[in-house]
Amino acid sequence: MTETSNLRIAVVGAGPGGYAAAFLAADLGMKVALIDPELNPGGVCLYRGCIPSKALLHVAKLIGESQQAKDWGVEFGEPKIDVSRLRAWKEDVVKKLTGGLGVLSKQRKVQYVQGRAAFENSTTLRVTKTNGGEENLSFDRIILATGSGPAIIPVLKLDTLRVMDSTVALDLAEVPKTLLVIGGGYIGLELGTVYAALGCKVSVVEMLPGLLPGTDRDLVLPLNKRIGKLFDSILLNTTVASMKDEGSGIRVTFHGPEVKEHEKVFDKVLVSVGRKPNSEIPGLEKTQVRVGSRRFIQVNKQLQTDDPAIYAIGDVAGEPLLAHKASHEGRTAVEAIAGHKVAFEPNAIPAVVFTDPEIAWCGLTEIEAQQQNREIKVAKFPWAASGRAMTLDRTEGMTKLIFDPQSERVLGVGIVGTGAGELIAEGVLAIEMGALAKDVALTIHPHPTLSETVMESAEVFFGTSTDIYRPKR
Ligand SMILES: Cc1cc2nc3c(=O)[nH]c(=O)nc-3n(C[C@H](O)[C@H](O)[C@H](O)COP(=O)(O)OP(=O)(O)OC[C@H]3O[C@@H](n4cnc5c(N)ncnc54)[C@H](O)[C@@H]3O)c2cc1C
Repeated sequence: MTETSNLRIAVVGAGPGGYAAAFLAADLGMKVALIDPELNPGGVCLYRGCIPSKALLHVAKLIGESQQAKDWGVEFGEPKIDVSRLRAWKEDVVKKLTGGLGVLSKQRKVQYVQGRAAFENSTTLRVTKTNGGEENLSFDRIILATGSGPAIIPVLKLDTLRVMDSTVALDLAEVPKTLLVIGGGYIGLELGTVYAALGCKVSVVEMLPGLLPGTDRDLVLPLNKRIGKLFDSILLNTTVASMKDEGSGIRVTFHGPEVKEHEKVFDKVLVSVGRKPNSEIPGLEKTQVRVGSRRFIQVNKQLQTDDPAIYAIGDVAGEPLLAHKASHEGRTAVEAIAGHKVAFEPNAIPAVVFTDPEIAWCGLTEIEAQQQNREIKVAKFPWAASGRAMTLDRTEGMTKLIFDPQSERVLGVGIVGTGAGELIAEGVLAIEMGALAKDVALTIHPHPTLSETVMESAEVFFGTSTDIYRPKR
């Protein structure tokens, strides 16, 4: 064992960044304390983010498929939804996963401290324990993994149970008759999908001209079509000017050039307008840590802050705010502390929107290429030509690969369609391995699967896709 085994490390925040960092540090022989207010590790991702939302989205998908089955000659009838059992199942998933992380912490001899940390100085934390009491703990290095919370806009802040953030929406206290989702980003659309599947009339309001701002439009198009049928209404180019609790509902006034109905009352409102980093850590001013203009903690490629003893990872250290980015950063920070020559420099971080259809992308997007004035070649394979998509009755999807025209190297991958979130991993591997169009086209994919659409997109690049005929010019 190297001398790192003598290092005492604190990880503040036990989300996917924090627990990944703590576990690797323990595996490398360091003495680790993991500090978080919850009973077990898990953070936002497990308690009120990725995991509960995906459990509920699984149920939403099942309901959607059971309704579509009518087209195939199979009728299940209207679903009977027992909200309390659904809630209990979702909570059980969370409990099992977070409990499992608690066991893994013990097995690794990570000292799990249930409480909130504040800085006394660069290497000493004052921990206020959840069950009472305070303790000062000193370390050689501290990793900040305090994550993020829902962003709040004053005009959208009402002190009523009818106005929810994503955490409250995931609690699933009830299924309201009508719900307004403010914000057409991925969290709003995912939670809107859940509530709509459970029988609620969902409207979405987005101030920009399209849903999922910043995402390639041809990936969003098939989602627009399907979600347009699932949701009651989608208001684009529209802002919420005011909200008023009228006791029996929330009266919302809309503002924008396309608004037809300027006022409407909703049973509940979900405010989902982005997330803000939890960088307001008490006592941080006693250290040399620098917080940037958008409230992210500033770090270098080793995730080290301006204070040599302090590292920061995950949502608090910058975009994209995704669990897998957090955990990889956590592992990089620990390796850097261990003295390994490492840097966090991924070529591709996948992003997945778990709507129906799913949207996933990684590496360079067409929008980014345009912004960078970068020459690219795009090859698209429509799922209407995929045998597997046909057997699933889900031909609205599309797989596209973005290539460097000279080297023919894969620079980016975008997929829209059922299961896109699973398929995108192949794109990430192709980019990280520096795969060329030929590598992807010559890799034998199993038939009939949706994964063939990745291979066939590469064939499209050469104009020789088996399942698409393009007359020679
Ligand atoms: C509804 C929803 C759905 C999402 N779905 C996905 C998804 O599908 N895929 C995906 O990749 N990402 C998803 N995310 C984002 C994902 O949850 C975050 O990117 C991820 O949790 C960030 O991990 P983290 O380790 O940086 O911090 P977090 O998971 O935010 O955890 C930070 C922890 O630090 C604790 N903490 C804060 N301050 C202190 C302190 N002073 N002392 C001690 N502890 C402290 C917090 O209580 C928290 O437990 C979703 C988020 C939401 C809200």
